[in-house]
Amino acid sequence: MPLAKDISKRGFRNWYERQLLESVVYLTTCIVCAFGVAAFIEAYRSSGGAARGLLMLLAAFVSGIIAIHAWQRFRTMIVLAQRLADKATCAKCGLYGLLSVTDASRIAHPAYDERGVSNADDQNAQWLRVQCKKCHHEWVI
Ligand SMILES: [Zn+2]
Repeated sequence: MPLAKDISKRGFRNWYERQLLESVVYLTTCIVCAFGVAAFIEAYRSSGGAARGLLMLLAAFVSGIIAIHAWQRFRTMIVLAQRLADKATCAKCGLYGLLSVTDASRIAHPAYDERGVSNADDQNAQWLRVQCKKCHHEWVI
């Protein structure tokens, strides 16, 4: 779901909270898979047969790929959430996070390419024009 639509639907505070929770899930996945890599490598070292050893190496490799992907997702989500949260306070009345999205950048490329790798340029190029729900002050985040 595009960023502006997601924030408009949930509200900024709920969107931010959800981003933090999802990023913690990705971080937890990363840590568990990193332990999985270590466990599968240890199982490979103590395995007797070649087929079992090969299976343990394959499992370690898959765990490593999942850990790397989860780490990339965690970093992307937490950086975006923090970047927007830093600018979510109204400069006029000081209210935090009660805003409505009035306009957004239109980026042709998604935040992730077809391989699931984040495109940092797209992330940094995103902007939202928002309006305070209390005093109607507008600014760009
Ligand atoms: Zn305001």
